[in-house]
Amino acid sequence: MFSSVLIANRGEIACRIARTARRLGMRVVAVYSEADRNAPHVRLADEAHPIGPAPARESYLVIERLIEVARKAAAECVHPGYGFLAENAAFAEACAAAGVVFVGPPPAAIRAMGLKDQAKRLMEKAGVPVVPGYHGAQQDAASLKKEADRLGYPLLIKAAAGGGGKGMRRVEAAAEFFSALEAAQREAVAAFSEGRVILEKYIDKPRHIEMQVFADAHGNCIHLNERDCSLQRRYQKVIEEAPAPGMTAALREEMGAAAVRAAKAVGYVGAGTVEFIADGTRGLKSGSYWFMEMNTRLQVEHPVTEAITGLDLVEWQFRVAAGEKLSLGQNQVLLNGHAVEARIYAEDPARGFLPSTGKLLALEFPEGVRIDTGVEAGAQVSPHYDPLIAKLIAHAATREVALAKLADALERTVIAGPRSNAGFLAALVRAEEVRAGRIDTGLIDRNLVALVPSGIDCAAAACGAATLLRQEMARIAQSIERADDASPSPWEANDGFSLSGPRVQTIPILVDGVQASATIRYGGDGPVVAVDGAGPALDARTFATADGVLVVRGGWQSLVQWADRVARDFVHADGDGTVKAPMHGRLLALFVAQGDKVAKGQRLAIIEAMKMEHTIAAPCAGTVAEINTAAGAQVAEGARLMTIAPENGKRS
Ligand code: ADP
Ligand code: ADP
Ligand code: MG
Repeated sequence: MFSSVLIANRGEIACRIARTARRLGMRVVAVYSEADRNAPHVRLADEAHPIGPAPARESYLVIERLIEVARKAAAECVHPGYGFLAENAAFAEACAAAGVVFVGPPPAAIRAMGLKDQAKRLMEKAGVPVVPGYHGAQQDAASLKKEADRLGYPLLIKAAAGGGGKGMRRVEAAAEFFSALEAAQREAVAAFSEGRVILEKYIDKPRHIEMQVFADAHGNCIHLNERDCSLQRRYQKVIEEAPAPGMTAALREEMGAAAVRAAKAVGYVGAGTVEFIADGTRGLKSGSYWFMEMNTRLQVEHPVTEAITGLDLVEWQFRVAAGEKLSLGQNQVLLNGHAVEARIYAEDPARGFLPSTGKLLALEFPEGVRIDTGVEAGAQVSPHYDPLIAKLIAHAATREVALAKLADALERTVIAGPRSNAGFLAALVRAEEVRAGRIDTGLIDRNLVALVPSGIDCAAAACGAATLLRQEMARIAQSIERADDASPSPWEANDGFSLSGPRVQTIPILVDGVQASATIRYGGDGPVVAVDGAGPALDARTFATADGVLVVRGGWQSLVQWADRVARDFVHADGDGTVKAPMHGRLLALFVAQGDKVAKGQRLAIIEAMKMEHTIAAPCAGTVAEINTAAGAQVAEGARLMTIAPENGKRS
């Protein structure tokens, strides 16, 4: 076994590899970009080396820099993790040339499987069923169109060099073919500097079933059961599980054998995954699954396989790379219970799953499930890398219990600051069709409306309003103390708040920019807050920020603000009625057009800055005389957004 390893990666996977390496007694060498100086993967290592600026192109993807660190640190092997250089044959070769063992397959195997067209031709020869389609050399639009017509619609255009769902287009009918082809080629050139495409028949009710394979350098190759990754969005995996619902032992053996044939056909060594697409219309069965591609690396979803087999796949990678033989035969591989993984991303389901960066004010995970993470509270979710916050993996005797455990864990995960998909994932895992095992790659899109609530969570909003109220009272109490010897009197503060007001007060609030009212009842036991009849949620967590209170509940986050405070704090109106941007940011939404009449305090626009939304409200009643920006535009602090001509020529 090796005595040291350089981990050429970051985040969750670098941490996960480091843990196994340390357990095996290795000295762990980490690398980090400028953005990752204080990242957990750096602290988990015995030594860490800087490799350049934040952009991956200038750090994690610079082969020479990594090799230089490997030499300097005298690392015996390099583990590439996944993503970055994991499937880069030139990197594997550079490691070999530097006398460092690359923990992964031989460069030739990476190359053989690197291009989808070439891989499919190889697989046909090896007797592995491939998706019907065209993967030939003719790449002019007319020839491709002819092949497409022959194949029939719907079909998929895929970038030959593709990965991560990029460069893929579904074509519904012949009339759409040319524009889809152009789009796919454009995306392929941009992402992979290579525009070649293949065509594939679009499989009905597609189910993504993949086999984990493992080969040693002594000619042994086995499979470690399948994973079902059919829950996807935009061709990207969201939830993965093992075993696949409805899989029979006989079909597992058949698909496993096909996967082993695929691996052997390219002289594979190490951990790999053979991805199949199955026709789910009549359940999984022989003859209705086809090879899509082979990923020549460890996979993001490998923990579900580890859960059901009891193996540490990273340990096996090291052992195989060190020349050891596989210690298990095919019939010794266990399949114990059921495991499900959810990928928590910093993204906002309510806004089309846009990435959501910014500072993590809190990050807390529940007990009872495996947590693979590489970020921590206080850190920035950087726009430079994959926005994965954590993977949660639940394992239980049955699928039903594993799903319930996972949903519960997702709902108890607390993420404050950036938005996350935790609540969405919980809703997905609890969905009827998912629990019944009736899954296919279209399930999420079909159910998007039900999975992403559109209204506000009133109980969470009430919780936020109650916190705002407590802050306000503390502020007043403080100013009363100060007022003992100084003016101005707090009773003259023009903030709409009063202790001597009515017994029931209604205060306008904004919940994620949506207007609502908080009702405050002053009784003997102090004020009681409600929003739309709902009292404060007991299972919510609140976090005070400069903009308002963040309420985290059930995996969702809401920002609750006093509406008048937002208007007062965030509108900069000059004497001439000019509305200026209070900060640098992006104009997310513009609610008015030139000529519109607006009321004082009316929402005009939303600026997003540091991933927080700031409402710009009208400083006075009047007419929008001029608009100087557009939705989506970047705005600089102090930039003029619009001009309001005040009603009757006067401002309030
Ligand atoms: P997988 O097929 O292993 O599930 P995906 O297809 O979801 O992975 O990921 C797309 C690409 O992004 C893959 O090359 C994967 O290795 C990479 N990737 C995914 N997550 C991360 C991460 N946290 N860090 C680095 N690379 C990642
Ligand atoms: P990538 O390299 O981006 O991972 P894949 O070829 O593995 O590309 O396909 C990604 C996803 O696209 C699959 O998991 C599946 O959901 C969908 N897909 C791919 N090929 C087909 C097909 N022929 N029919 C239906 N869906 C497909
Ligand atoms: Mg794939």
